[in-house]
Amino acid sequence: MLKADNSLGIIFFPAFDWAISPTHPEREERLLYTQDQLREEGLFDVEGIDEYKPLVAGVDDVERVHFCFPEVSSVATRSHMVSAGGAMRAADLVLSGEKERAFAMVRPPGHHAMKVVHGSRGFCNINIEAVMLEYIREKYGPKRVAIVDTDCHHGDGTQDVYWHDPDTLFISVHQDGRTLYPGTGFPNELGGPQARGRNLNIPLPPGTSDDGFLEVMEQVVMPILDDFNPDLIINSAGQDNHFTDPITNMNLSAQGYARMNAMLKPDIAVLEGGYAIQGALPYVNLGICMAMAGMDFSGIREPDFTPDAVRQDPRIVKYISEMCASFPELYFNPPPFDGSEKSRDGVISGGWFVRHKDIYYDVDGITEAQTEMVRQCNDCRGLLKIETRSTNNPLCLGVEIPQGACDTCRDEGYRLLEESQLKGGYRYIQFVNRRDNEHVRHGF
Ligand SMILES: [Zn+2]
Ligand SMILES: [Zn+2]
Repeated sequence: MLKADNSLGIIFFPAFDWAISPTHPEREERLLYTQDQLREEGLFDVEGIDEYKPLVAGVDDVERVHFCFPEVSSVATRSHMVSAGGAMRAADLVLSGEKERAFAMVRPPGHHAMKVVHGSRGFCNINIEAVMLEYIREKYGPKRVAIVDTDCHHGDGTQDVYWHDPDTLFISVHQDGRTLYPGTGFPNELGGPQARGRNLNIPLPPGTSDDGFLEVMEQVVMPILDDFNPDLIINSAGQDNHFTDPITNMNLSAQGYARMNAMLKPDIAVLEGGYAIQGALPYVNLGICMAMAGMDFSGIREPDFTPDAVRQDPRIVKYISEMCASFPELYFNPPPFDGSEKSRDGVISGGWFVRHKDIYYDVDGITEAQTEMVRQCNDCRGLLKIETRSTNNPLCLGVEIPQGACDTCRDEGYRLLEESQLKGGYRYIQFVNRRDNEHVRHGF
């Protein structure tokens, strides 16, 4: 009998009853072919590889990460709660020591969901990796964590959630935002004043193939991870860099994906995108499972593969090797925060970081205007205050006392809550105290 070098837990949740529309690329068949493929290949007959059922995330699990307006149940369906719960189950398997690694093959995806949620962006309503990570931190204590996002689209939601967190290193490798949704994810987006260099974007040109991705992993991602030395590595595993993917323009193969994973050695992988549901997803997911289990994946080959399909233009080769040479500086020596009036990164005013954001929810056609404020504190990460209004909701308030907050930031958080309740002006208030695990929801 075959045995896995690393024990691996796999969680499936195809979400049969959830689709944006019947012909939308984000639909339930996405995981059915993968499920068949893993069974046909006998993956679950391998000693150490087992399948598990997802948990179901609760309202508190979502509110640990997001301010949802008007409330969690109005932006997240049961399928979203199970998808996030699948990631939480993966976390439990690994953190409890039951499995060395875990892969949550779930949908709907989550990496475009930002801190505040008024609706759906890029097929995402709640950020399932972030819900999982904050569940880990609540249940198993503070952790330094790296999230490496290998989806073809910039993980703009995860970037937004962790923008101010120095204990979360977020690295997104994606197709250049000048050529693909969501149009962001450039190297100068480096994180808030207390977390500079903890947010790294590596945009790659359309047509990048296995060689380019592997070079970026080897020359940029791995040395940075070695330095950051996280307690956990999480892979937001989007399979839409595949050369047959219908909505993107990259040229990665199943072998390329498996080799990237073998290098990265993530403790937990969480499925994101990937829309070539028959020709790519089953093979890419199989390759990743085998790589995570430490098995020989060299025999995996997707039906449409030809060497020409993944050949890389010499201009791309040159572009990537130049970028690999200069990029690590952004982590090892990030330029200081520029809080001047003309900076789009925000300003420091009266002891608070302040930044204005306009956010568009492409799936639901909602626009949001938001002011984000973080108390600049020497003793903790700082109290977070967000004022937001959208075409769905009048002015709403979110207040978060972070995990590990100092007494002053906690007291200031409660003062803000009390003052806002007394003065009014907000239609909905969401308040979360991560230090003492208290949640307050308020609608007027
Ligand atoms: Zn994607
Ligand atoms: Zn503080």
